[in-house]
Amino acid sequence: MKYYANTPKGIKCLLCRHYCDLSDGQTGICGVNKNEGGTLKNLVYGKVAALHTDPIEKKPLYHFLPGSSALSIGTVGCNLKCPFCQNWEISQVTEVPYQQKVTPTQLIHMAIDNHCQSIAYTYNEPTVFYPFARDVALEAKKHGIKNIFISNGMESPEVIEDMVNIIDAFNIDLKSFNHRFYKATLKGHLNSVLDTLRRIKEGGFWLEITTLVIPDENDSREELTAIARFIAKELGTDTPWHISAFYPQYKMIYKNRTPAQSLQRAYDIGKQQGLHHVYKGNVAEQGITRCPVCQKELVVRSGYFIITNAISQGRCPACNTKISGIWN
Ligand code: SF4
Repeated sequence: MKYYANTPKGIKCLLCRHYCDLSDGQTGICGVNKNEGGTLKNLVYGKVAALHTDPIEKKPLYHFLPGSSALSIGTVGCNLKCPFCQNWEISQVTEVPYQQKVTPTQLIHMAIDNHCQSIAYTYNEPTVFYPFARDVALEAKKHGIKNIFISNGMESPEVIEDMVNIIDAFNIDLKSFNHRFYKATLKGHLNSVLDTLRRIKEGGFWLEITTLVIPDENDSREELTAIARFIAKELGTDTPWHISAFYPQYKMIYKNRTPAQSLQRAYDIGKQQGLHHVYKGNVAEQGITRCPVCQKELVVRSGYFIITNAISQGRCPACNTKISGIWN
């Protein structure tokens, strides 16, 4: 895809919903995409600031190749300004601390050497480095390696359309169901994220959702119910919902951790709204996938590791119900 459109005064970046208008020499809200001589230059192309082999469960993705490893890469920069960001050291800066560049081919060799079945674009917002992620993803596909996007959901519709047959799975943060919170605190748009979620679902990608439950910010019964209801009604009751415990971080260092009762309440709300797969994150508790029909325990996890996985050819071995996900 072409990542920008020409305008009378310069260019418009098409990567995310901010659609920044950029005159020559100007950099967008993310700080890492710039109009250089009338074209869009991605300033972090190949400049990887974080690189690890992670269990796929850490992304988190629980219904996508469980027990496999994902080569996880991130750069710097973000199109949101969340005061609770857990990766703020890289997301809220625009300079990579070193200048060593990696190529898509080098990353794919690393993935193969480390027995990774997927590449995860993660840590900072991957939409802001989509030109690089896309090139890595296309190289990965040549080797049968899957691609997953861990994102805040502010991708432009143009990017989502371009991702068909390139990106296989998403975990999207649905951080709140409050328009004001998204706009004033995060500097994003709730409606944009909801639209992205619908498009991802309609596009046939595998989708899981994460909500960080933050005390006094998004943990009211009404708001959590609204999130769970949206997922159930518009994305389907088989969509996994990860509710994650907050811990003090970045500009919210003064806040308390999420109490266990709050996370349990969020879990109960998810189940009451009909969600089949609700998982608690950032807590020492087993994440168990049960058959939605006969309730047999299918996948039992301890932290990021699989203890048992009874799913057979994508089905419950007890009652033969098809279990939503991409299974190995
Ligand atoms: S990716 Fe960056 S420059 Fe492009 S529209 Fe989004 S915030 Fe603006």
